[in-house]
Amino acid sequence: MKALIVDDSMMVRMQVKRALSGAGFDTVEAQDGMDALEKIKANQDVQFVVLDVNMPKMSGIEFLEAMRHELPDIAPAIVMLTTEGQPDLVQRARALGVKGWIIKPFKAELLVATAQKLTQALAAS
Ligand SMILES: [Mg+2]
Repeated sequence: MKALIVDDSMMVRMQVKRALSGAGFDTVEAQDGMDALEKIKANQDVQFVVLDVNMPKMSGIEFLEAMRHELPDIAPAIVMLTTEGQPDLVQRARALGVKGWIIKPFKAELLVATAQKLTQALAAS
């Protein structure tokens, strides 16, 4: 299983990486939406994406729109990891296929459980 971790905070990326690699995921990191787009193009076998909303250059939502447009054939499970929980943002993300929403600061166990549940659902579909 391969996961893409997208956040402009190196500390958050480290925490997420530690949690997911402990659960057996291979991880790829990106520091903004633009970087994430390049990384997912180079790693189209990514099954799980942990995505921040607020980032310089390209936001998490803009990344999702670009990914859907440029890579229509891939459908990784996506979880937003953010301090933002506004209903309009959540709705926009859901329309772009986001399956989960985790608020920072996050619990590693919750993130891992969500990653496992969503990637298993993906494998079964
Ligand atoms: Mg951020």
